Amino acid sequence: MEILKGIAVSPGFAIGEAFILGSEESVIPRRFISVDEIDSEFERFHAAVEKAKSDIRDLQEKVKADEIGYEAVPIFDAHIMILADKSLHEEVLNRISKNRFSAEYAVSRSLRKYEKAFSKMGDSYLAQRISDLHDIERRLLRALLGERKEDLKQLNRQVILVAHDLTPSQTASMDREHVIGFATDVGGKTGHTAIIARARELPAVVGLETVSSDVSSGDTLIIDGNRGIIVVNPDEKTLDTYRRLASDFHNFEVSLFSEKDIPSDTTDGRKIRVSANIEFPNEIESVTNMGGDGVGLYRTEFLYVGSETVPDEETHFQAYKQAVAALPDMKVTIRTLDLGADKFFHLERDMGMDDKSLLNEKNPVLGCRAIRYFARHPQLMKAQVRAICRASALGKVNLMLPMICCREEVEKVREVVQREQEALDEEGIDFDPDMPVGIMVEVPSVAITIENYMDLCDFFSIGTNDLTQYTIAVDRTNEHVANLYRPANPAILKLIQNVIKAGEDYGKPVSVCGEMASDPTFTLLLLGMGLKHFSVSPPLIPEVKKLIRSISYPEAQEIAREAAGYKTAREITSFLHNVLRKYQPDWSFN
Ligand code: PEP
Ligand code: MG
Repeated sequence: MEILKGIAVSPGFAIGEAFILGSEESVIPRRFISVDEIDSEFERFHAAVEKAKSDIRDLQEKVKADEIGYEAVPIFDAHIMILADKSLHEEVLNRISKNRFSAEYAVSRSLRKYEKAFSKMGDSYLAQRISDLHDIERRLLRALLGERKEDLKQLNRQVILVAHDLTPSQTASMDREHVIGFATDVGGKTGHTAIIARARELPAVVGLETVSSDVSSGDTLIIDGNRGIIVVNPDEKTLDTYRRLASDFHNFEVSLFSEKDIPSDTTDGRKIRVSANIEFPNEIESVTNMGGDGVGLYRTEFLYVGSETVPDEETHFQAYKQAVAALPDMKVTIRTLDLGADKFFHLERDMGMDDKSLLNEKNPVLGCRAIRYFARHPQLMKAQVRAICRASALGKVNLMLPMICCREEVEKVREVVQREQEALDEEGIDFDPDMPVGIMVEVPSVAITIENYMDLCDFFSIGTNDLTQYTIAVDRTNEHVANLYRPANPAILKLIQNVIKAGEDYGKPVSVCGEMASDPTFTLLLLGMGLKHFSVSPPLIPEVKKLIRSISYPEAQEIAREAAGYKTAREITSFLHNVLRKYQPDWSFN
């Protein structure tokens, strides 16, 4: 049994078989053999070694005949030497005879052990040899299993995915029936892969650094998405403990769910709105299913997933129409495209768009993202703005702009909105002329000078994911600096307070739609800072609502006052956890 610690990004527990998603997406089943099969598995292993050697020799001959690849010849010699290595043979044969592993599973376990040992030695020569070991493992497995491979789309049993990294689109398209959780080497809590995992209620731990080489396909895994732990090949006692925790967590969620439709008023009657962040049209039903009050953030870039062409105005319109029709009388805040950074930077390549601005940037998080991308592609902005304006005729639509860093950007987009509304008018197409237009506050320059935007914007939504990243100068997806990525940093709290206060002073609505609003740790603090609108991941709506119902506004204000007196994120978090234990004793599940 081995316990690995990473970053908890999506709550819940999963217990199941590991499926390593490598470049070949192949899986080695954890198959056990009987005593009678030991000799035949030995033979299969020896035959696979001979086959691998002969394949390598054939390749070597081909390379010798081709002068260009001549320098590869010694590498193949080294591979043949490793294949003949006595200790490797002993290791594999031992696993077959003592552990009763099938030959392929014994090969996979043994080579993974060497790969892991090499990577821990910190020697760059040995580190480079890891890819040789990978190569040998692949050859042996191919010899043992033929070309038989299982891929993700053909899964017919439940598995836990283990990968170096998963893109947001891979996470979005996972078959939820068969994938019950995942673990990755890289990533952070507010990366888009994590955000989608939470929305899809997939327990997940990221930032485990070496999990994709520590674990073999077929291993039994426990994902503890609450504490950021994974357990590899747990013993019976640990399995029992986790089965109990999973069942308690399930009961906790069921009890929250039963109260989801109770309004989120504080005990002294302050009315608070809790709406949903969604990214796909098929999430719309989760808004009311989870007791949400409309959509506070519709991340429209996810409409591009799975599409081979750039969505046109009609495609945008149909998606927004669906949301507005499903949520009559509720506000739906549609955010214009936020392409770039960790969001679908592959789109240009996939869709054959010829501007390489997103692909070749050295520093995409500070580069041509979102509204800046629109400036280079006005036709994309026009199509989306027109679609949103058209949808506004059907319900209560808000248009929201991401990544605003200066006043001129808002002025420009407002001009486009006005121009497109005039064009629609001339074409006789309906729209709401009073559709509110607002901005996300996620760049410090805007949070600091928020008063300068009051005359231009109808509402504000604080994007704490990016605000944290840009204020503390810490990449939200980089596991190596995840310890610094702390929304509880006093600088972030000060900026949030500044925006909420300015909104109150000028009578403009302010919400928080970053992941901080979905984290129960911060609910009472934000409430006490004067926040009246939370926009959260749908599965978290019932919990956030319950917390709001548990306190009076003056009590929450007192919490905000005390938090403002601390100087470090650590002190603030520890204070908020104590507060939470008082108001929500079941909090230990989170
Ligand atoms: C944010 O930055 O907080 C936010 C809500 O936007 P996104 O996570 O899509 O960047
Ligand atoms: Mg953002």
